[in-house]
Amino acid sequence: MPDDAPDLDMPPADFRRHGHAVIDWIADYLENTRQYPVLAAGQPGDLRHRLPESAPAKGEPMEKILEDFNEAIVPMVTHWNHPRFFAYFPVSSSAPAILGELLTAALGVNAMLWKSCPAATELEQTTTQWMLDWLGLPAAWFGMIVDSASSAALQAMLAARQRAEPESRAVGPSGRLIAYVSEHTHSSIEKAAIAAGIGQSSVRHIAVDAEFRMNPGALAEAIRLDLAAGLKPFFAAATIGTTSTTAIDPVPGIARICREHGLWLHVDGACGGSLGILPECRHFLNGVDQADSFVVNAHKLMTIPLDCSLFYTRSPEVLRAAFALGAEYLKTDVSGAVDYMDYGLALGRRFRALRLWFVMRYFGREGMVAILRRSLQMAAWLGEQISASARFELAAPVQTGLVCFRSREGDAATRELMNRINAAGAFFVSHTVLNGQFTIRVAIGNIRTEWRDVEELWGAISKP
Ligand code: PLP
Repeated sequence: MPDDAPDLDMPPADFRRHGHAVIDWIADYLENTRQYPVLAAGQPGDLRHRLPESAPAKGEPMEKILEDFNEAIVPMVTHWNHPRFFAYFPVSSSAPAILGELLTAALGVNAMLWKSCPAATELEQTTTQWMLDWLGLPAAWFGMIVDSASSAALQAMLAARQRAEPESRAVGPSGRLIAYVSEHTHSSIEKAAIAAGIGQSSVRHIAVDAEFRMNPGALAEAIRLDLAAGLKPFFAAATIGTTSTTAIDPVPGIARICREHGLWLHVDGACGGSLGILPECRHFLNGVDQADSFVVNAHKLMTIPLDCSLFYTRSPEVLRAAFALGAEYLKTDVSGAVDYMDYGLALGRRFRALRLWFVMRYFGREGMVAILRRSLQMAAWLGEQISASARFELAAPVQTGLVCFRSREGDAATRELMNRINAAGAFFVSHTVLNGQFTIRVAIGNIRTEWRDVEELWGAISKP
């Protein structure tokens, strides 16, 4: 064996040089994001046709790779970091989050066991705890960071299944378990029912009120009917900030019904949960302390790029009973520590807490309050302009950073307006359908969105 085996990675001096160039690129990008078109240019297949069919046999110089990144990749990027990206829901990257991301990649650790990286496990415990404090939720809850609210929904449902039918882990569910969501609950809960073997037809969609909130009376009645039919209600999901309109379900009432019938209550705060950091929105979280599990996406309003979902439960022992499966090569002699791989599906787990720690420390609670509050103020202002106009109407109350509205002239005019705004290239807004009517959604929450962006969007909307 030769003892002078060369390092196969990029030489450190080259890494330093290219690293400086990449940081410069990022700094320019963050400073000038608004100069890019929000939406990617091009048609499906444009990038694929431009790229070679197979990867290179011989390595290529980094200069060339970075040049192609600029020329081929960037034009096909839809810029979620653009201050005028108002579609779907906000996900933007603050500078401290980007620095944390860089260091996460450099360390490249796996947070599966405490022993596989004690810092990753303990920072995950600490940051999830800090977040409970910011939200005023029970400090005793067990917290972990997963990739998505969708994964959290699956974990919640499997824990609920474990509690309702402990034997299901060995033999599968009985086929009698019933889950309850509202007509506006995110599809990830229904997907969880598919994945957990509960079955899509065992998910009941409970009616909502005029403001798109779950009707607890209808939930109680559905549970009563299922019990009378000999079925086993076991799980319900309430939402803090539904996807279409950011409605806040009446969690205290739903929690009471769940407690009465022994259902696991999962609260989906993916979209709106982090607004509980604001004193004026703390009431959004009323009743959440009664839940069995809760998820909040830091990768939505908290300026952390995908992925960073904080998942909590009051019953970690049930979650562990649902997932733990000892393999010899993963056994350690450590006692008194959390091995996060035992509480979820993934074995390999990113060091997600590092970015969260950077962001929570860099902005502090006051900085985060300022970031969240500004979006709400901008949305309230836009909502007022729409309410006061003769041409448009609000389609849902404006209580978060989301404004849902439509033209009084009907669906065709609303759709035409959305297409006109997006086609001009300066803004990106998206849509939903509410009570059968086409509705434009303006989702405000990007850290780089300024007042002028919202004012000019209103200018584009109200242009005759
Ligand atoms: N729940 C709600 C209310 C959402 O709005 C979304 C996404 O927008 C999700 C869950 C899914 O989140 P994720 O993409 O983290 O799975």
